[in-house]
Parts: sequence; C-alpha cells; structure tokens
Amino acid sequence: ILIVGPQGSGKSTRAKLLAKKLGIPYLSTGEIFRQMAKEPTPLGKKIKNLIDKGFLIDDKTTIKIVKEYLKKPAFKLDFVAEGFPRNLTQAKMLKKLFDKIFYLTISQKEIMKRLTSRRVCPNCKANFNLLTQPPKKEGICDYCGAKLVQRKDDQKEAIKKRLETYRNLTQPVLDFYRQQGILKEVDGERPINTISKEILSRI
Ligand code: AMP
Repeated sequence: ILIVGPQGSGKSTRAKLLAKKLGIPYLSTGEIFRQMAKEPTPLGKKIKNLIDKGFLIDDKTTIKIVKEYLKKPAFKLDFVAEGFPRNLTQAKMLKKLFDKIFYLTISQKEIMKRLTSRRVCPNCKANFNLLTQPPKKEGICDYCGAKLVQRKDDQKEAIKKRLETYRNLTQPVLDFYRQQGILKEVDGERPINTISKEILSRI
C-alpha cells in the first residue's frame, strides 16, 4: 500500500498509523534519508545538504536504497510505504510494487500552515504540530522528554522549493498511477481518524 500526497498532507502520520492498524511494516524513504544524513560520511553529508535545501536525492541512490530495503524479510509481504516514488523514473523502476495507492489531497494554504507549525523529536522521531497535535509540555517530546525541533526543510524557503519539486516531478507520478486505475483520492484535510477509517474501509 502506498500513501502519496504533497508535503504536509500527513503522509507519514497516516502511513504509520495504517501500518500499525494492519500490523504490517512501514517504509519511508524520508526517514531512511534523514537517518543517513546523520552519518559523518561523504554520502551522509551530501544527503544532509540536499535534504536541508529541499532538493531530492538522486534516483540512482534512491532506487538502490529502496531495493536494498525491499530485499529484507520484513518487506517480502504486505507493507505501507510513503515518500517514494518521487518522480516518473522512480515510478517506472519500481513498477508493479503497489496494489493500492491512496492520494491525500490538500490545499496549498493548508500545507504552509501545517508545515511551518510542525515540530519533530530528534531522539524518538515523534511528530507534533503546534496547531493540531501540540505536545503536552511546550517544546518537549511527550514520549521521551527530548527537546522538540523544527526540521530545516520545514522553513519557508525550503518548503517553497519542495512544493515546486512536487508539482514538477511528483504530479506526473500521480497521473501514471491514475492511468493504471490504482490511484484512490482521499480528502487529506479531515481529522486523522476519519482519514484512517476511510482508507481502511477502502482496502
Ligand atoms: P520527506 O520526509 O518524504 O519529505 O523526505 C525528506 C527529504 O528526503 C526530501 O526532501 C528529499 O530530499 C529526500 N527524499 C525522500 N524520499 C525521496 C525519494 N523517493 N527520492 C529522492 N529524495 C527523497
């Protein structure tokens, strides 16, 4: 199962919740790359630089990493994915990987609002939103007590770059799946539980 949508559509929160409800693994290239960006290697540094500016990682690296993960026993059966394919090249190279694709729709205004108010825990990776899902104690992670941070790529300039990339590169991926008749649209502006229920009922 693949969850797609622009930045801020709640892909990762919805995909994680869905994987948990179905009891199957979750695969996110964004999380893999953010983890790699912490490594003090030339590749780690290159990835960090691209992520911070809102640029995509090159297709060769991305496909290689996705394929490595897909070989793991956890991903031999059903799983929920998010973050890829990001362009037509990736979609064509990972053809026939997905049976069901849910596209979370959301307006540009709502995207800006959500992304600039997102905060993440650098330690346990939990996501919060100052407007819709604030932490119990200001600036502190509910789960592990670490200090919450704003992702560099959630700052205005990087968001604009990411949305431009999404429009130019990822939108054609949606058309590619739409033509195959496997793309299902879901209104991504509703409360998280409503969205999860709808997706579960359509699986
Ligand atoms: P995300 O959390 O999905 O927005 O991903 C964060 C960043 O990781 C993106 O802005 C890209 O720099 C990189 N990234 C994640 N997935 C991909 C992908 N499939 N192809 C290229 N770059 C990616």
